[in-house]
Amino acid sequence: DEKKLRQFYIGSIDQGTTSTRFIIFDGTGKPVASHQIEFTQQYPHSGWHEHDPLEIITSVEQCIERATELFIDQGHDISDIKAVGITNQRETTVVWDTNTGEPLHNAIAWPDTRTKGLVRELKARDGADALHDICGLPLSTYPSSVKLVWLLKNVDAVREAYDEGRLSFGTMDTWLLYKLNGGKERDIHVTDATNASRTMFMNLHTVEYDDKLLGFFQLDRKKVNLPNIVPSSSPDAFGALSTGRLKGVRITGCLGDQSAALVGQQGFSPGSAKNTYGTGCFLLYNVGEKPVISKHGLLATIAYDFGGKRKPVYALEGSIAVAGSGVKFLMNNLGFITHSHKISDLAASVDDNGGCVFVTAFSGLFAPYWIDDAKGTIFGITQHTERGHIARATLEATCFQTKAILDAMELDSGHKLAELAVDGGMSNSNLCMQTQANIIGIPVDRPAMRETTSLGAAIAAGFAVGIWKEFDELKEINQLDRMIFKPNVSKEESAKMFKKWGRAVEMCRGWLA
Ligand code: ADP
Repeated sequence: DEKKLRQFYIGSIDQGTTSTRFIIFDGTGKPVASHQIEFTQQYPHSGWHEHDPLEIITSVEQCIERATELFIDQGHDISDIKAVGITNQRETTVVWDTNTGEPLHNAIAWPDTRTKGLVRELKARDGADALHDICGLPLSTYPSSVKLVWLLKNVDAVREAYDEGRLSFGTMDTWLLYKLNGGKERDIHVTDATNASRTMFMNLHTVEYDDKLLGFFQLDRKKVNLPNIVPSSSPDAFGALSTGRLKGVRITGCLGDQSAALVGQQGFSPGSAKNTYGTGCFLLYNVGEKPVISKHGLLATIAYDFGGKRKPVYALEGSIAVAGSGVKFLMNNLGFITHSHKISDLAASVDDNGGCVFVTAFSGLFAPYWIDDAKGTIFGITQHTERGHIARATLEATCFQTKAILDAMELDSGHKLAELAVDGGMSNSNLCMQTQANIIGIPVDRPAMRETTSLGAAIAAGFAVGIWKEFDELKEINQLDRMIFKPNVSKEESAKMFKKWGRAVEMCRGWLA
């Protein structure tokens, strides 16, 4: 059986916040060929964060070409690639002209906070309080809805397209599916349920667009072309690649990146959780087939929807805006390091944070605090402060927020997590993961193969074409050489650190622009 599985291959497009990857997995979940391209991050004003939608399409196409070239060079046969899955940065909002397929503006990336003022207005609008129970999300700068409303209010070309009924809206999955299928010609305009659950347009309970939500944002469905919501794993909803070496290969899986990571970590049973430390950091906790609306600052979201006889599965989510982007900030803005991975050595050059606490609120603070107007602040600087202390404080900021999220999850779910599965770029740092275990007081479990996001999309695609039929068949995947970080400081010590963090967060509130 194992031998047979090795002969099936699935391609996985991982369209992340800072880079695009294409990884080809065999049927045992082992990556055999891949390519990665970083694309341009545009910051036109403080708090603004954009991507060029066409550059992203080019990056995907190039990654597919280079990875398949490597695959062929290794002696494999391209016809053994049975399907392709997509996973993508969520909430990032793309608008294009339905008639021409051309983007009407840069994509507004998920951490962008230009909508701060708009969100304040929306919160004061009638009906604002009712939204959370319908869609599971609080009003903030984060979901796609507020990004789309901003575009309608501020960009003439978008407004005109809307007025003339030729405005197409999509999150990154929708844009990729549309373009990779050949655009207007095949006109695939769909989104999977996990991505749709991040827009604030979808009713979490029915998994359909909700007129109350659309009405609140004053959107007329006749004027804006919204993608059809479909399951994350489907043999026919996502079309097929229209060009390149994989022309004709079906796309059969599509999941938002954090959902894909949960699937890739095999968080299929209620009560399992994973934390992904990428540009931001996202903790997803599987709550089963009924949504749990958080009372403690978490998001309710679709975890995954494998379609057919399976019901959608829900998650509680804790989103942290800044994780690896804090490391990049120390590298690009402050020149502390030359490569991300050097952060661990710098942090290890000192014994502790030296009294520094860094609230890395570059995009406000997300879960569980939701403070839109917080700004990044370093507390506790003295003559004794070195770069190493600030490096440590940067890594700790994500660990503290993870602790706050786990506390909220315990309150919402009534369960205490036994162990945290981790992945993502920043989880490469042993020092960071040991710190995380110390701060949350439970073991942190890291797989050796950390491309779990890509793996999750491959799993969704593989299910749709019958490579796997039951979750049980995945049991052996990615279990080799996992590393467990056990807490090694006293509870008192970590509680003291966490208390200090809490004070620092309070002091960041209401920072003047
Ligand atoms: P995304 O999918 O959001 O683009 P990745 O999972 O690829 O993110 O992670 C990239 C992030 O991880 C970057 O912000 C980078 O600074 C950080 N990172 C990568 N390697 C390390 C490392 N060894 N230690 C700490 N941070 C790292």
